[in-house]
Amino acid sequence: MADSQKLALEFQQNGFIVGNKFNEPDVYIINSCTITANADRTARQAANYAKKQWPNSLVVMTGCYAERDPKGLKSLESVDLIVGGKKKNEIVSRIIDRLNNRKISQIEISEFGNDSLLGRTRASVKIQEGCDQVCSYCIVPKVRGREKSIPPIEIINSINNLANRGVKEVVLTGTQLGTYGFEFGNMSLDILIKKILSETEIPRIRVSSIQPHELNQNLLEIWMDDSRLCPHFHIPLQSGSDKILKSMRRKYDLRMFQNAVNEIRTYIPRASITTDIIAGYPGETDDDHEESKNYLKNLLLSDSHVFRYSDRPGTTSMYINEKTPTKIIDFRSFELREIAILNKKNYLESSIGQIRKVLWEENEGRSGLTDNYVRVKLSKNMVFKKKVKKNTIDSVLLLKVIDEEVLAEIIK
Ligand code: SF4
Repeated sequence: MADSQKLALEFQQNGFIVGNKFNEPDVYIINSCTITANADRTARQAANYAKKQWPNSLVVMTGCYAERDPKGLKSLESVDLIVGGKKKNEIVSRIIDRLNNRKISQIEISEFGNDSLLGRTRASVKIQEGCDQVCSYCIVPKVRGREKSIPPIEIINSINNLANRGVKEVVLTGTQLGTYGFEFGNMSLDILIKKILSETEIPRIRVSSIQPHELNQNLLEIWMDDSRLCPHFHIPLQSGSDKILKSMRRKYDLRMFQNAVNEIRTYIPRASITTDIIAGYPGETDDDHEESKNYLKNLLLSDSHVFRYSDRPGTTSMYINEKTPTKIIDFRSFELREIAILNKKNYLESSIGQIRKVLWEENEGRSGLTDNYVRVKLSKNMVFKKKVKKNTIDSVLLLKVIDEEVLAEIIK
């Protein structure tokens, strides 16, 4: 998402009109992901859809899928131009060349349907890219390269710019946030966060993801001291079986993961903790899956994203012979999702009666997100009583769970 925002800005600076409601954009850019086979499929579908809708538009594929498989994408008739993620600096000039230097053009940037920049209440700020780990199933190190931190001054400037433009929340993103700053000397994620808190006035800061072994007391103490940091921790689990975690080459085991969760709950009791988990990794037996289910159930997290395992060309898990049949992957992901839904429901129920800060994403309080990751909407009588505007922050009392949302009323 941070990449799409940066791209949008670059195009605007070059005279393009960036948006997402054109009848027929001159250029349609798909900023692709390639983390799963499903992500690849979605990007191809987006290209086919765009070409069918707007045959005269220049359809451009960039991002990680374009980096990983340019040859495969060349065979797609719907894609006119492919620019790999590592060459994203060239994208503006290459598009201008293709448009015969016609600079004022309407351009749409799509990250699977997400609005890329304008009108958003929340913006991503990339603090590092690349990854030096070699998880067996992951294509990121190949397509994004070695870890590289963005200098703190650039990050602070970006955040101040966003705050000046009215953005109320920034999400610090990257692939491996826990090692931020290793190349700068006397710099780390906790030091960076402290700098952001003291040198910017952005009202809310969220950290997109952190690994369990990278959470430490220094970090958690910052959350305790400053309410601008959202009490929401996304810690990818990937499997609830030590055997599978080892095969995945993850750097933690289940005991370390549980310790990280316990520590967060000790320091920040009402924090939301979310995770990712993969169903059907090669060699995952019924017993391993049962272990994963029980582990996930007992963690009582506020949300879990379940991914179906898929072979990614260029990763080592692709060469593990004991593949899990598709039907079993489907069934296991269904079972994990059931657990995720139940835990989420319990988490939402446990939030009833709390007073939280919500950032409204829609007018009249139709939808907003609390600091601790609860999606809320205003109760009906409240909508008539108070004009609630998108991109404002209110204190709300959480009243009642309805499906995956919580009904709330404003208390200030
Ligand atoms: S830590 Fe592992 S899963 Fe995450 S980006 Fe790096 S290689 Fe991929």
